[in-house]
Amino acid sequence: MSSPVAVTPMGARGKAGATAVGAVQSAALIDAENEHIAHTYHPLPVVVASAEGAWVTDVEGRRYLDCLAAYSAVNFGHGHPALVAAASAQLGRVTLTSRAFHNDQLGPFVGALASLAKKDMVIPMNTGAEAVESGLKLARAWGYRVKGVQPDRANIIVADGNFHGRTITIISFSDDAAATKDFGPFTPGFRSVPYGDAAAIEAAIDENTVAVLLEPIQGEAGIRIPPADYLPAVREIATRHNVLFIADEIQSGLGRTGATFQCDNVGVVPDLYLLGKALGGGIVPVSAVVGNADILGVLGTGEHGSTFGGNPLAAAVGSAVVALLETGEYQERARVLGARLAERLEALIGLGVVAVRSAGLWAGVDIDPDLATGRRVCELLMQRGVLAKDTHGSTIRLAPPIVISQEDLDFAVDQLEAVLTDLR
Ligand SMILES: *Cc1c(COP(=O)(O)O)cnc(C)c1O
Repeated sequence: MSSPVAVTPMGARGKAGATAVGAVQSAALIDAENEHIAHTYHPLPVVVASAEGAWVTDVEGRRYLDCLAAYSAVNFGHGHPALVAAASAQLGRVTLTSRAFHNDQLGPFVGALASLAKKDMVIPMNTGAEAVESGLKLARAWGYRVKGVQPDRANIIVADGNFHGRTITIISFSDDAAATKDFGPFTPGFRSVPYGDAAAIEAAIDENTVAVLLEPIQGEAGIRIPPADYLPAVREIATRHNVLFIADEIQSGLGRTGATFQCDNVGVVPDLYLLGKALGGGIVPVSAVVGNADILGVLGTGEHGSTFGGNPLAAAVGSAVVALLETGEYQERARVLGARLAERLEALIGLGVVAVRSAGLWAGVDIDPDLATGRRVCELLMQRGVLAKDTHGSTIRLAPPIVISQEDLDFAVDQLEAVLTDLR
């Protein structure tokens, strides 16, 4: 497609065989990190030193195509000129005021974001987990003050297999043993039902239910896409029972699935959007709850806040991100390239791939577990100059920056095909 989206030209990629000096450098840096960092991650052994567009370069000068994009936080590519310009300009003016004072970036940012979401109010926060926590607090307060739920009785319905972040309250309704074991006692007030089953949600609703919280597509669970009629049915049920429908679009939103929100793709308007990841343009953490004043307006002075939420640097970058999305170019690009990605990945079914699920430029690829683990496939892809991430044993997820060229996207799938051929 011809597109005004800036695309980084390809360069020499995946040079095989690092120099001996380089190898030492990389290993030494990994050792230094491992010596002093809590071991809550198991990164691929690549040490990134710089990045541009869809490509990252390691300390030895090898280039890799980034097919994870920091879990969609880098939807617009590394170092997008408009985002870097907005951040650089703001760095020289003022970066933090706290909300004790106004700053000149926040008003334009929340106005633009509300308008993008066709809502009228925003709670600015930093990380995704904070947006989720804010949405949960808001739903409870709305339940007591507007719906009339008895004090401390509110419940919120969530879905099995969810991932909404890492705080104690959020993991309280996770069914992932690795995320929860030894972290109790947990926050009460949540009910989990099977994902994709609207009837199960309706059956779980009672007079104390204040909200249903769902990912429109479950990302961490392996790009699990519910039946097309699921979210419309949830919307109808939530409205009929006077329950808020909260869409966690932290990973699925802001262009990734070929629309501004995945909810748009299924014709659904939630009461609250939870946003994060790409909202910070891959530069600073920026998250938000976006909804209408009849809900967000229930919170009063002193009831919620964040030292960094709404800071002028975050707001300047957030405004630049919204401006990129306002044109619709990225959504269109994710849609067009996503169709290409789906077609190419589906051709690998039976050749080491057992299933593919995709939405826009976002795909979960189930590798035949008899062939290799997802981790092993990611290690082999890395050796071929492609960075991706496994999830849940044998699934790998692909979420390249939306600025990726079709040529580079084909390169990524070619490398996956080559890895699977080598393994078979
Ligand atoms: C990443 C993610 C979160 C948590 O975001 P953090 O910024 O890591 O706290 C919440 N919900 C979804 C769907 C996510 O993908």
